[in-house]
Amino acid sequence: MAARASDEALSLTAAAAVERIAAGELSGAELFDLYRERAGNEDLGAFLWLSEAAADVPADAPLGGVPLAVKDVFCVEGVPSTAGSRILHGYRPPYTATAVERLAAAGAPMLGKTNMDEFAMGSSNENSAYGPVANPWDRERVPGGSSGGSAAAVAAGLAPWAIGTDTGGSVRQPASLCGIVGLKPTYGAVSRYGMIAFASSLDQCGPLTRDVTDAALLFRHMVGCDPCDSTSLDYPAEVPLPTAERLDGVRFGAPPELTGEGIEPGVLEVFNRVRTTIEELGGEVEDIALPHTAHGLAAYYVLAPAEASANLSRYDGVRYGMRAGDGDLLSLYEETRAEGFGDEVKRRIMLGTYALSSGYYEAYYGRAQRVRTKIAEDFRAAFERVDLVLTPTSPSVAFRLGERTSDPLSMYLSDYCAVPMSLAGIPAISIPGGLSDGLPVGIQLAGPAFSEPRILDAAHALERAVGFTGEPWRA
Ligand code: GLN
Repeated sequence: MAARASDEALSLTAAAAVERIAAGELSGAELFDLYRERAGNEDLGAFLWLSEAAADVPADAPLGGVPLAVKDVFCVEGVPSTAGSRILHGYRPPYTATAVERLAAAGAPMLGKTNMDEFAMGSSNENSAYGPVANPWDRERVPGGSSGGSAAAVAAGLAPWAIGTDTGGSVRQPASLCGIVGLKPTYGAVSRYGMIAFASSLDQCGPLTRDVTDAALLFRHMVGCDPCDSTSLDYPAEVPLPTAERLDGVRFGAPPELTGEGIEPGVLEVFNRVRTTIEELGGEVEDIALPHTAHGLAAYYVLAPAEASANLSRYDGVRYGMRAGDGDLLSLYEETRAEGFGDEVKRRIMLGTYALSSGYYEAYYGRAQRVRTKIAEDFRAAFERVDLVLTPTSPSVAFRLGERTSDPLSMYLSDYCAVPMSLAGIPAISIPGGLSDGLPVGIQLAGPAFSEPRILDAAHALERAVGFTGEPWRA
């Protein structure tokens, strides 16, 4: 009986759990303990650190005490925060990221820190200095990245919900590969304060959840201007919870550039089925040209490494985490960085430094910035004709562990459909659209800046009609 009651509590969406707690039928502390136990026994490699006990959360707090898994890229006061890197081993920040703090204040205490690609660079979670994460749908496969630990934890029922960061797909792509929902907000909607920086003009914090309502609920409590992040903005209005069941009059644009060549046939099949579902719900889908998005990856892999090379210069063995070398200053810098950074991070630092070097700056960085502007203009023009852009989230389903590690370019292609929205700073969600050979396929909906309520509503209607029930942890 007790076992069944706990299974039942663990199967609730976060929003449903909040309701139960408010009704006095469940307590946040009970739920925390249930998840804490499950997460403590996990063998996916999803968590890097677990909280000991739940904080005291009043039952009438908006999020009721429903515990939250937090990507290890967020600084939390006194708690190991490594960003998946050896160079931050042993680092315990003296302050907490605004997003984590706001969610805790709303009643979502931290359950633990989740595994991730080092400094959020990767699409498979295999770049973590603390080992890979397995996909709960098939343990031989990757969960996606860089928020792989957060996605696997939610998909495996080890956490009711999680947050991650998305610089060029890192919330949406792992959500897609793990069969859950992932939202990348408008750039600036959520404060980046306390998020260990990768590429500051792109980084955004977003929810990874079991359903669209949970994503809206989490998002609602993280948004807003923060004096500690000068790029953060006031959200225009309170984020409503989505209610739509139909898509009457909603116009969707499917760009041939992101829905054809390079997309796996099984993914396209699901995509086309969802397209039909949209029409059945009253929505209209038309082709829409986004001519420059095909150059998104090329621009991203100049811009993101350029910003990363600057952001990562602060890791010198003096200020944070590990320290190596034989005592003199130069060897402290060199040895700490040589031992502390993994291969992918070093590759990006070299690419970025090169792209920014005098003589090449205009040819690489300057040109990539212009491509970025063109991509933003493509979207602006598209949103004059349609409400939302519709694409697959990832060109493929979850791939095998090790399959792409020796070929960075094939790894980079994983974000082909996700990167353009990041470059344009616009919001996009990934929701499960169905299965291909037993593995989840994500569908992406993107809209203009601050259109999250519209995106969430459409995703909600679609989610109900798709009726995706594949939750590997329930089996
Ligand atoms: N996979 C992309 C990269 O490696 C995106 C990562 C991210 O969004 N943090 O840069």
